[in-house]
Amino acid sequence: MKFSWKTLLLWSLPFFVIVFFIWQGFVMPTTNVNSNIANSRMTYGRFLEYIDMGWIKKVDIYDNGHTAIIEAIGPELGNRTQKIRVELPTGSPDLITKLRRAQIDINAHPNKSINPLWNLVNNLFFPILLLGGLAFLFRRSNSAGSGPGQAMSFGKSKALFQMEAKTGIIFDDVAGVDEAKEEFKEVVTFLKQPDSFTAVGAKIPKGVLLVGPPGTGKTLLAKAIAGEANVPFFSISGSEFVEMFVGVGASRVRDLFKKAKENAPCIVFIDEIDAVGRQRGTGIGGGNDEREQTLNQLLTEMDGFEGNTGVIVIAATNRADILDAALLRPGRFDRQVTVDVPDLNGRLAILKVHAKNKKMDNNVSIQTIARRTPGFSGADLANLLNEAAILTARKRKQAISISELDASIDRIIAGMEGTPLVNGKSKRLIAYHEVGHALIGTLLNYHDPVQKVTLIPRGQAKGLTWFTPEDDQTLISKAQILSRIMATLGGRAAEEVIFGNTEVTTGASNDLQKVTSMARQMVTRFGMSTIGPLSLESEESSPFLGRSLNNNSEYSDEIAKKIDKQVQNIVCECHNKVIKIIKDNRILIDKLVDILIEQETIDRYMLEKTISEYTVVPVKNTYIQQL
Ligand code: ADP
Ligand code: MG
Ligand code: ZN
Repeated sequence: MKFSWKTLLLWSLPFFVIVFFIWQGFVMPTTNVNSNIANSRMTYGRFLEYIDMGWIKKVDIYDNGHTAIIEAIGPELGNRTQKIRVELPTGSPDLITKLRRAQIDINAHPNKSINPLWNLVNNLFFPILLLGGLAFLFRRSNSAGSGPGQAMSFGKSKALFQMEAKTGIIFDDVAGVDEAKEEFKEVVTFLKQPDSFTAVGAKIPKGVLLVGPPGTGKTLLAKAIAGEANVPFFSISGSEFVEMFVGVGASRVRDLFKKAKENAPCIVFIDEIDAVGRQRGTGIGGGNDEREQTLNQLLTEMDGFEGNTGVIVIAATNRADILDAALLRPGRFDRQVTVDVPDLNGRLAILKVHAKNKKMDNNVSIQTIARRTPGFSGADLANLLNEAAILTARKRKQAISISELDASIDRIIAGMEGTPLVNGKSKRLIAYHEVGHALIGTLLNYHDPVQKVTLIPRGQAKGLTWFTPEDDQTLISKAQILSRIMATLGGRAAEEVIFGNTEVTTGASNDLQKVTSMARQMVTRFGMSTIGPLSLESEESSPFLGRSLNNNSEYSDEIAKKIDKQVQNIVCECHNKVIKIIKDNRILIDKLVDILIEQETIDRYMLEKTISEYTVVPVKNTYIQQL
């Protein structure tokens, strides 16, 4: 069974009840009267008679005059001195007189529980314990996600948004997103010198929406603006608006803007706004009442203040496409700033920022790392340098060198390194497969150069061929795509040529997937086939979260057949050409495979050197132009 505080408490409740009764029954009376020495009792009337008879020797009064322990001796008591307990009625002042007249020793004992506080604690002990236990249980169930505990924080959002003036982050910490930075510097100017804008009749924008993929520095930018503008900064995450109870989100929005207006000029930052700002009335399963109310409140609030009150709302999302259109219209988030995955220069700048506090070897070229990491976001790059630093520390080295950086890049892209295969047929087959990729990639003019070929497994792959793009390619030509298709087919083609048609393996399945997808996109998206320059399919989008649920293919069955035919043509043509290149260069391939099996890894230098030593049958560029 899983241990949990909740079950422990539930099970221990009966125990507390028992403890309580023991407490009430034993502990409390003994603090008041020494009852253990007076087991026998006597009525008040009999006591008075005893006084008259002169049988009483001593009276001890306890309990504020409610109880007396008497020492008596008499024939009824067997002529022995006995201690007897007597309950005294309230208001019997003449008793004392009577006792004094009979010359009996009287002694009054104050309550043992002198401290009234102690008394209070005694009486409150159990209720407090019970309430405390219950509150504890509620809190536990609350943090588990739902439950009645949330009722306690109803509409109270004070703790949820923070006013942080000092994030410790400045614009210099954000690199590679220059347009967004410019935009934000402008916002800082709005806040610092609003007059220069209002003087010429300009309206200060109310909202700036930051859009971009995860890890590109949106939250970082918002923190930097807080650090630079020196104004109060209210930060809340969109998901914090969404609560179990309908209306809580809306009241939180109201609360937030009220606070903001009191503190103007200031910045309100709503991170991950898609949590509330999603298109209303769509999505599978119908609309969400609570979210709609929250969004409506947000819209109302944003309309409710004038542009010049000094409140600027910044929101961030990575899904601008699913945001409600009403949020995006001018007058709310007037400005949209796109923060995209950085290009080569951007990566270089980000790497420099994060390398500042790290010890790097002198021969490390940040340029090379930036080149090797196309598609990495700012967060990926920060992670990369950190991984390399960890690896360096593990190797007990003084500074991060290129080998740790390389290993970290490989690991982030392709996964953990596995143990190399033992020499054998399958290792040979994998070697031919990888050399196939590498050789075709090298021989084709339009292809990126090979960085290295390796037989050390990583992640799912048993062997890998790494290519480095020469420069950032935002526009890719038809010839380049065809070269990629051919290089990707090189692995399977090598298996076929060397081991025969029946010996090919499943290892190429991932390659074939990529090839088919590339070929299909050439036909349906880029107009690179004989069907003509038509856009027949749009980029795939997730049907679960987005707006459009409609099928995004808009063509007839006839066109569908043509598409399939074209895709098949492209792939088969490329395949045939690759087979020919491999057959033409068989001697070179055998040599490369021998080296690869012996050394496990061939780098670009070694590869080019070996190729230059052999007579290579050149690949005609017409191969590609014919397609
Ligand atoms: P998101 O866009 O998802 O909000 P974050 O701003 O949270 O991304 O970025 C996460 C981390 O990645 C940052 O704390 C920072 O270390 C790093 N990072 C991301 N983008 C940049 C950038 N442009 N410049 C410097 N560091 C960045
Ligand atoms: Mg973020
Ligand atoms: Zn392959």
